[in-house]
Amino acid sequence: MVVQTEREDTIWYECETCGLLFDERSDASEHEKRCDDSDPSYIQ
Ligand SMILES: [Zn+2]
Repeated sequence: MVVQTEREDTIWYECETCGLLFDERSDASEHEKRCDDSDPSYIQ
């Protein structure tokens, strides 16, 4: 799932599966759909 986290006074959205951070919740949600239970190999 996507978790909201705050760093340096900025809200980030973190993919709990792989730990990637996004500044847009929609980006995080979109990523998460492809990340869950699959190999996120498109991320280099
Ligand atoms: Zn991920």
